[in-house]
Amino acid sequence: MSPHSGNITKVAKELGIDEAEIAVRKLFLEFSEQDAALLQRLQVFAQASGEEFSDSFYRHILNFTELKGLSPDNDALDRLKKSQSRYFTELIDGNYNFDYVKNRLQVGLTHQFVGLKPKWYLGAYRKYLSCFLHLIWKAYPDDRQTFFDTFQALMKIVTFDMALAIETYIYADNQTIASLEQRIRNLVEGIDAIVLEADILSWGFTFISPQAMRILGFPSEHWTTRTAFFQKAVVPEDRAFAMEYTMQETGAGRDHELEYRVIGFDGRTIWLHERVNIVADDNGDATGIRSVLVDITRLKETEGQLAYLATHDELTELPNRTTLYDRIHQAIAQADRSQTLVGILFLDLDRFKTINDSLGHHIGDEVLQAISNRLIVCIREVDTIARVGGDEFVIVLVDIVRPNDLAATAQKILQAIAQPLNLGEHELFPSTSIGVSIYPKDGKDVQTLLKNADAAMYRAKEKGKNRLEFFLPEINEAVQRRLTVEMQLRHALNRNEFILHYQPQYDVKSLRFVGVEALVRWQHPEIGTISPTEFIPAAEETGIIVSLGEWILETACRQAVAWQQAGYANLRMSVNLSTRQLSEPSFVDMVKAVINETGLSPELLELELTESMLMNKSQEVLERLFAVREMGVGLSIDDFGTGYSSLSYLSRYPITSVKIDQSFTKGIPDDIRAATLTRTIISMGREMGMRVIAEGVETEGQMKFLDEHRCDEIQGFLLSKPVSAHDLIILLAQSDRV
Ligand code: C2E
Ligand code: MG
Ligand code: MG
Repeated sequence: MSPHSGNITKVAKELGIDEAEIAVRKLFLEFSEQDAALLQRLQVFAQASGEEFSDSFYRHILNFTELKGLSPDNDALDRLKKSQSRYFTELIDGNYNFDYVKNRLQVGLTHQFVGLKPKWYLGAYRKYLSCFLHLIWKAYPDDRQTFFDTFQALMKIVTFDMALAIETYIYADNQTIASLEQRIRNLVEGIDAIVLEADILSWGFTFISPQAMRILGFPSEHWTTRTAFFQKAVVPEDRAFAMEYTMQETGAGRDHELEYRVIGFDGRTIWLHERVNIVADDNGDATGIRSVLVDITRLKETEGQLAYLATHDELTELPNRTTLYDRIHQAIAQADRSQTLVGILFLDLDRFKTINDSLGHHIGDEVLQAISNRLIVCIREVDTIARVGGDEFVIVLVDIVRPNDLAATAQKILQAIAQPLNLGEHELFPSTSIGVSIYPKDGKDVQTLLKNADAAMYRAKEKGKNRLEFFLPEINEAVQRRLTVEMQLRHALNRNEFILHYQPQYDVKSLRFVGVEALVRWQHPEIGTISPTEFIPAAEETGIIVSLGEWILETACRQAVAWQQAGYANLRMSVNLSTRQLSEPSFVDMVKAVINETGLSPELLELELTESMLMNKSQEVLERLFAVREMGVGLSIDDFGTGYSSLSYLSRYPITSVKIDQSFTKGIPDDIRAATLTRTIISMGREMGMRVIAEGVETEGQMKFLDEHRCDEIQGFLLSKPVSAHDLIILLAQSDRV
């Protein structure tokens, strides 16, 4: 079976063979009807010689190994012999029409297909002629003329056939070339890249794949002109480099690669990666180039984005720490040249953790974005703002002549940040603490400058937040102290260095002594008394708060029982809790055990929670609170009003009392906002059946206001500071017995 069977008419057509062509060929070979008749007359003799004819043909052929390989078994050989006999018959049939030709073409293609080389195919004709020569000689032993004419006729038709044989081979080769070309074209067009060839002498394109039109958009006629058009499309900044480099490398006969930008037909900038291969002639001389150009625009954009991500903070899009270091380096170098100062402002938002804990990270993120927008408008183009941590920003101010200029900018920032911030239903009151260090005075290198600005910032926090502090060498001592506190906290409990102080709480109407709040202090052997605001955060971070909290609860309860036994019954004991304690699965058991061991009536115990401890908390925490409340223990919300939750939100929890935060107490009666909030908290709290207590009461005016607005209880320096257990007994003795 040849691959062309059934299609042979098409083959003939492609070869230009039809009846007319056959006639021309015959004419050229001087093949006449008489020749046909002569050949036909041979039939009788051929039949007489029978099988012997093709036997002798095959005997000859099978002497050659290569030919033997083409007819592997006897069946195949039989088939071949049969078709061979058929051919002999046809050859002398006298009928050399279009069907005859198609037959020959078919046989030729089949031979080509099975791999029979033309030398064998054409050589075989010699064998036919010899065989026939014998036959004709035998047919006309005495008739030399007929012998001669018949053999001539035979030569003509064999030549006719040989031409067809050669043409089928050429046809098949052309077909192969065409399909290869198509395959290559498909391959080239299938690549998502431009493939082009250019001639070195004329610099004209000799080949350009259709992708050029798709990727760059220029219509094909642009490409038929000279390469100059393409050079012009290269963006001006890249043109000189791209051309020089290509010329240099091509001139040296070197393959090379380069990247450059091109302005496409639609005006879009396209990044191309070009790989150039030198095309050389047989002598090895460069005659042209072959290039593959890949559109790497997306890659370049991604690279750009990656570089941006590596140097910027994702949330605020401000420079990150890496960029900050670079900018400070540059600022220092610039300051040295111009003999100016560099200001480093270290900002840490106040109470940001509370915002995150109580309103969720989503709102926290919005706050950070809003703050960064506020910061941007406070500084000049030449300055830098970087976000270096959760709620930490660093600002680099350059070209500073006097430190006072820094203070002015820092003040402006404090004010800008402290504007109320409306995020949906929430109105927030952000603020920030700022520490400032100055180059060269406060440090010669990036690390020192940042460390000292950070230390100054801590001082601003300690001094009450929402303020600015310049670095002073003594601040380093504060940093030192912080580290000492963190390190020694671990052993403080074992060494019995904690004590509790108690601050009385009074009924606002009668000024009766109703309870105390237990407040922990650390009596450090060298440093002296350390405030809980200094070590509680570290105790929470390290987890020490769990055992410390248990000790505090037990000590406070034992103390309450002792006072009861001394005759002061009904004195309520309030104990502060920290988030970490509530997260402990053993929390409820711990409280139960302490109550059992100390024998305190649970109704006299109150636990102080903060709003952030309740927001976004799990079901377990909720269940623990209910379990504790069921024992009879009271639950109070401390520092109420700073955590962005609402009283109605708190109604889900078994809360028994709210403590108005000191910051509001401080504002009453004159600050309208503080006064309004305080009034609202009191009335809503009472409505919800909660006891309302105000803390941080320092003045008569505050007390009066609270009394007028029917606050239940007060606590504050006006009536008493927190005192030791020993001193509290004296206070109790002075007050009415409860
Ligand atoms: P807090 O629970 O809101 O405690 C009230 C703080 O305000 C106490 O500071 C108290 O001394 C102070 N204070 C009371 N009256 C006035 C006043 O009239 N004016 C001013 N300016 N301040 C007043 P302290 O003892 O330094 O405690 C600070 C915070 O440390 C507490 O705030 C509480 O959050 C935490 N803390 C204290 N003791 C413990 C404790 O035993 N466990 C836990 N987890 N936290 C504690
Ligand atoms: Mg408290
Ligand atoms: Mg408080």
